Amino acid sequence: MSTPRGSNRPKGSQAPASSGAPADSAVQPLSPHRATLPDSLPRPVYVVHKHAASNLHYDFRLEISGVLKSWAVPKGPSLDPREKRLAVMVEDHPLEYALFEGVIPEGKYGAGTVMLWDFGWWEPDPQEMDKAALDKSALTGATFDPEQALAVGSMKFILHGRKLAGSWALVQMKGRGDKNWLLIKHRDEFARPGSRILEEAPNSVASGRSIEEISGGVSGSDAT
Ligand code: MN
Repeated sequence: MSTPRGSNRPKGSQAPASSGAPADSAVQPLSPHRATLPDSLPRPVYVVHKHAASNLHYDFRLEISGVLKSWAVPKGPSLDPREKRLAVMVEDHPLEYALFEGVIPEGKYGAGTVMLWDFGWWEPDPQEMDKAALDKSALTGATFDPEQALAVGSMKFILHGRKLAGSWALVQMKGRGDKNWLLIKHRDEFARPGSRILEEAPNSVASGRSIEEISGGVSGSDAT
């Protein structure tokens, strides 16, 4: 029961400056393409980063309680409700990181090329809210609390992204380790059985660039 949030930082790493390793290493080299995003961002933020690290994966992030709750999805999200995708909960990221696109240098946390693959905002799905979370909300008299939904291992939400939309769930896998969840598209008008969104829309929603173009751009003449 003693698993405080943020305690999963690798023990071998150097003691980070007070408020988190990702902020130190990842936020500073903000993308020059940030300007292509809207000035007034709808909140809470939802984002998927395509991350070409040692293995290509997708980082699914939801703004909750002032940070980006984050899951690494090795196979990426699917619009097919039959495709339940493993989503491994990783460190919270600072909100500012939502707009990051670029290259994180070798040796830094998250080293590799990062693409803003999808972007938008999210809200709890009132039709699909987990009963346990509802019961707890009723007991406390509070409105739906995403932190509680995370605590009971069932987040049901509506995405308003450019590529992903409609009702989704993140469901914690019981007995398989705290960090393992499944990312699942609910059946609704935004579901597309058999579709392959990762291949149909592989590039950045911010810049239109591919992973190769993003890594080439930074190592080239317009490196910052
Ligand atoms: Mn990642």
